[in-house]
Amino acid sequence: MKCAMCDNPKKLKKTRISKWYKESGLDNIYLKGVIEYRCDKCGETYHSYGDMDQLHRLIASTLICKKGRLTGAEVRFLRKALAYNSTMFAKLIGIKTETLSRLENAPKTELKNEALDHSIRFLVASRKAMPDRNYDIHDQLINDSGQELKEIHMAHRSSGWRADIGSGHEACL
Ligand SMILES: [Zn+2]
Repeated sequence: MKCAMCDNPKKLKKTRISKWYKESGLDNIYLKGVIEYRCDKCGETYHSYGDMDQLHRLIASTLICKKGRLTGAEVRFLRKALAYNSTMFAKLIGIKTETLSRLENAPKTELKNEALDHSIRFLVASRKAMPDRNYDIHDQLINDSGQELKEIHMAHRSSGWRADIGSGHEACL
């Protein structure tokens, strides 16, 4: 790797460093083993974090186990780790987009609503447990496109319980 900021013809010096990860938007994340490339000539540094999606999923799984309520900054981090925009995320957890923005813009303030705090944690946990399979239920919640369920018909067969044929409904997970 060569320097992009100056004409230093030499390869950049590579070291592993520890780093306060303030780019995460949280003020208490510290990383060890980040690869830093440094230019001898102009002093510019470049950082390589490896698989950032994996890093963010790992931080998310750690955050949802914290004692006490989630803060606005943590909610924003979790939303981004799940790759949702504000509109979709607000719809999923059942609040208005403006309410979500207000929460996220008060980074140090803890959520007052316990149900909301729990719903966000379970959303993160469910995405971790079933990264692909729960897209259906997410779609339904976002688009309000679920099935009308006046009656639920189940039938028992040798293979176990199934939705009864012709019942018109099925499980979304
Ligand atoms: Zn340079």
